[in-house]
Parts: sequence; C-alpha cells; structure tokens
Amino acid sequence: MWNCEKSAARIENDLNALQAFTSTPGAGCTRLPFTKETRTAADYLKQAMATAGLAVTEDAAGNVIGVRAGRDRSLPAIVCGSHYDSVVHGGNYDGIAGVVCAIELARVLEEEHVTLAADYVAIAFMDEEGCRFGTGYFGSRAVLGEMDAAECRTFSDLDGITVYDAMKSYGLDPERIADAAWPAGRLGRYFEIHIEQGRVLETCGADLGIVSGIVGIRRARVTIEGRADHAGATPMHLRRDAVDMAAQVIVEAGRLARQEKESGAVATIGCIEADPGAVNVIAGRAAFSIDVRSTDAAAIERILAGLRRKLDDVTHDCGASWTAERTLAVAPVRMSEDLQARLSASAASYQYATHVLPSGAGHDALPISSHAETAMLFVPSRNGRSHAPEEYTPPPAFAKAVHVLFDVLRTLPAN
Ligand SMILES: [Zn+2]
Repeated sequence: MWNCEKSAARIENDLNALQAFTSTPGAGCTRLPFTKETRTAADYLKQAMATAGLAVTEDAAGNVIGVRAGRDRSLPAIVCGSHYDSVVHGGNYDGIAGVVCAIELARVLEEEHVTLAADYVAIAFMDEEGCRFGTGYFGSRAVLGEMDAAECRTFSDLDGITVYDAMKSYGLDPERIADAAWPAGRLGRYFEIHIEQGRVLETCGADLGIVSGIVGIRRARVTIEGRADHAGATPMHLRRDAVDMAAQVIVEAGRLARQEKESGAVATIGCIEADPGAVNVIAGRAAFSIDVRSTDAAAIERILAGLRRKLDDVTHDCGASWTAERTLAVAPVRMSEDLQARLSASAASYQYATHVLPSGAGHDALPISSHAETAMLFVPSRNGRSHAPEEYTPPPAFAKAVHVLFDVLRTLPAN
C-alpha cells in the first residue's frame, strides 16, 4: 500500500544527494547549465531513474528523460518534470524538487504495479533559469522544437562562451539540437510540481497550491530627461527635476496595481538610477525599471496605459520628456481547467488543504502550456524564501504532491 512516509524519505534522500552538485558549496546551490555540476547531477538523476525502472536517455539538449512504458505506446505520453539547473547561490529545491518528485512518482507506479494507458515520462529540463546565458526554458523549448543551432550561437555567458560552445564542451552536438524535439503526438499532458517561491500557501495554511495560470510579464526601462541644475540656486518652480518626476510615476505604479486587486496584478520598480547622482545636484536624468505581472493581460495593459498617462502629466508641465524601452513581453497562460479540477478533487479526498493561485514566476510549464494540456502543483516554501540558500520545503510536503498526482494519473482518460 502507498506509503507517504516512505516517499518523503526517498525524496529527502535524493534532495540531500543532489545538494552536493553545486559550484558554491556552503553558499547555496549554483548549478549552471552545461557545467560539471549539471553533468554530475544528470548522472545522479539517470541512476535514480534507472533504479525506478525507467528507460533513461539524455537528449540533444541535455535533458534527462526516463520512460515507463504504457499499455498503448502510441498514445501521447503523460509527462512530469521540472528543471535541474539553478540560479547563482540559489536553493536546493527550485526545479530539482519537481524532478525528484517525478522520479518518486515512477517508483510509486512501480511499487503499486500500475501501468498507465500511455507512457509515463519523467523529465529533468536543462537551463530553465537562463542564469548563465540570459535566456531561459532552453530544455523545454528544445523538446517543443523551438531551438536551433543558430540560436545556440546567439547567446553567450559573461566569459563570452556561447551556448553552442558550452554544449560542445559538455559533450553535446549543438548542430543536432533539433533532435531533441519530440515528434508530433508524443507530448500528452504535462504536470510540474514546484516550490511556490512565495508565502501565499504558508500564510493561508494550505498543503498544496493548485496553479490557475502563469502570469504574463511586461518589463520596460523608463528614462525621464529633465535638467541638471544647482540644488541651492534653482527655486522649485524653475526645476526640471527628473527624480522628482520619477518618484511620482513610481508611486503611481503601486497605486495602479493595487487598483487591479481582482486580477492579482503586481508592479515592481526594482532598479532606480539618478544622473549625475550627486547630493547637491538636481538630477538631469532618472531611469527606472518597471515589471508588471498578472494572469490578466488586460489588467497589465491598463496599468501600463496609466503609467504612460502619468509620465505625460509629470513631464508636460515643466517641459521635460520621457522614453520607455520594452525589455520583456510574455503573455499570461492558463493552466488546464480539467487538470486543476482533478488535482483539487484528489487533494480533497486526502483532506489536504489546497489553495488556487497564479504563478508569479515563469516555469517550463509556461512554454509547454501552448502545446499541451498543462497543470502545476505548488508546495509551500518556508517563509516564502526562494532563489536563496534559505529555500526550504519539508520532504513530507512533496510526498503529498506526489500522492495527489499519482491518483490523478491513474484516473486520467487515455487520450
Ligand atoms: Zn524553478
């Protein structure tokens, strides 16, 4: 019979072992793509997958894939996974915990003698974070057939090493990256277990989070051109103080986002610069970043429109000007309603408390969701900490997620 404690112990064992594959021991997990650390982690995962009874391969993108044959191998596969790279000085759970859960699910299927109608595929994606090359979703996009050798040559790390060259020294042939693409009809439903990386679930006391969608993101860098003048000799009514104008816009960003409470929109000004940046000089130029996210694309547009109005207002009166450069635009995606309902029902049958929430961060589920029915299950992050060595989720919490998913997979319709 299914044993949650046994699962928790095995998950803990895997996570403890994988902690060692970091280039910053004692200072969090740093497992950048196509490095010795991803290689050793991949070797560990292959071993764990094989022991779980899976047929293991590493594809042309460095994704590690384990397959448990279904009754009808021509059916689209049920896929469960996440990424095995990390950010710099990140935690030991982001991404890798979802991979470990996918492998644990395979062990449980084996122990419970469950053969699904379709193939079950556990997958560990390479380079979701995009930390080394400034990209992201590398492995999942390769599986979706969205990567080619030309793109591998385009991006490089801080040492000038391109994805192309990094892949070669890792033992992969970037010219064959297209081989990682799955044939049409192979990818069925996709499930991803991931740590929440925030504190919503902990705050509401939920065991698990059912992800409703992944937020869309718009980022821009705004520059306000005023005029640098003497801080003492220039009366207030004659100023074109770029920082004063920027401050009004920044306050407006928060106000506009709070007004969109229904959509869960958030707006963040994470970076501000003043030029020349001296204590006794009125800033002639101020620049700041804007990051607006929501699962509701219209809410994002309303916030951005409100910010443009505010920028016009504050610069118009004193003859200043502003420009904005778009740096990122990602559309929001919805998770499958059917799979959300199945996850909720399964969790309820075990009396696990669930909470429905959007994901404010991107995941491999984001690119995959435009190709396949997709669902994500979040487990609470202690104190909401993530992308930091303090990241922690107790192993029994992951076992609950595996438990729920196990039931959902068993009862999925075949096609
Ligand atoms: Zn992640």
